[in-house]
Amino acid sequence: MIATRSAELPRTLFSEEHALLRETARRFCEREIAPYHAQWEAQGQVSREVWRKAGAAGLLCMALPEEYGGSDLDFRASVVLIEELAKINASGPGFSLQSDIVAPYILHYGSDEQKRTWLPKLASGEVISAIAMTEPGTGSDLQAVATRAERDGDGYAITGAKTFITNGVLADLIIVVAKTDASAGSRGISLFLVERHMPGFHGAPALKKLGLHAQDTAEFTMDRVKVPASAMLGAPGMGFKMLMSELAQERMSISVSAVASAEAGLAATIAYVRDREAFGKRVLDFQNTRFTLARLKAQIAMARAFVDRCVEALVEGKLDAATAAMAKLETTELQFRALDACLQLHGGYGYMQEYPIAKAWADARVQRIYGGSNEIMLEIIGRTLEG
Ligand SMILES: Cc1cc2nc3c(=O)[nH]c(=O)nc-3n(C[C@H](O)[C@H](O)[C@H](O)COP(=O)(O)OP(=O)(O)OC[C@H]3O[C@@H](n4cnc5c(N)ncnc54)[C@H](O)[C@@H]3O)c2cc1C
Repeated sequence: MIATRSAELPRTLFSEEHALLRETARRFCEREIAPYHAQWEAQGQVSREVWRKAGAAGLLCMALPEEYGGSDLDFRASVVLIEELAKINASGPGFSLQSDIVAPYILHYGSDEQKRTWLPKLASGEVISAIAMTEPGTGSDLQAVATRAERDGDGYAITGAKTFITNGVLADLIIVVAKTDASAGSRGISLFLVERHMPGFHGAPALKKLGLHAQDTAEFTMDRVKVPASAMLGAPGMGFKMLMSELAQERMSISVSAVASAEAGLAATIAYVRDREAFGKRVLDFQNTRFTLARLKAQIAMARAFVDRCVEALVEGKLDAATAAMAKLETTELQFRALDACLQLHGGYGYMQEYPIAKAWADARVQRIYGGSNEIMLEIIGRTLEG
């Protein structure tokens, strides 16, 4: 094990292999993402090309077995990429959603045919994917989804509307949450692999958002989209259980990005206040500035240690839902608090789009909402209070 620099304590999460991977990821971000991100923000989506390039560089689905196009690594490899993307505030590419959320569902619950068909294409970036739980009428309350999948000959006909779907414009393949038995509560929910080109699938342009301008978050409707029975992921009625078991990893990817983003915001702000002068001295020399930044530095160091420990537990298969919820809750609150304080220390320039801190602040706001809102995280943690 080698240690890499954290705010204070050396990190023990990574090996030599991760250090090399970080170098690859950093170079990829520098060459293939940073120069294009502003253009993608104006277009409301990233290019398909960057997905293929990420696949070719071996940066997608790294935790998949080699037989499916992965690198046989584990979630720590994703941590490296998520951190490098967050460092440059590259909030457009939805790589983590594909690598850390969609691919694991197919790997863990897919049939051999589903795995052989989809996983290599997800790893190469040839196929872009999404997961659609949220609907216009329900988000937090997953059991209330209204999308239904009715038996239709040998397969199912799916009808319903989904919204706020990450990668929703570019996605070729979408895991859709639908009810196969409306009377069975959570046991009536199933997951389906739906393809965009299927008749009855109606996509829409990217939604206009407060931040994440390069991310193609979108809504879509399905009007009796016919899928074969083989498009179901796992068994009928198992959807809710599958969703619950995979959410911890989604929450860790959010937590990892939150800490890295807060750290990047802090570094950018230290650089800014060292140069900026007011009342004849550097802004860094005001005690208020140093105390604000010192407190953030301490809080980020603590958050990083907790998140690293959670990642270790996740890799060992030992991370429970409540602990993942604690990480998601506290890191996203910290990220927003940190970036808000950092923006304040930039004065008026902090409010200008051309300053990265302004974009980072706007992008960070949603971290407290998606992946399960932070109120839902409190609910999950709250359930453990009485043992
Ligand atoms: C940019 C973006 C990307 C997203 N990507 C995806 C995606 O890829 N796939 C996907 O399926 N969804 C995605 N979402 C949706 C996201 O997960 C939901 O918005 C989120 O779960 C909240 O659901 P909601 O918007 O319906 O809010 P609601 O559920 O209506 O909640 C409204 C408010 O009530 C609170 N609340 C709800 N229930 C409780 C409770 N029991 N106790 C206390 N407070 C409660 C919430 O915390 C919130 O503050 C995305 C959203 C955004 C904005």
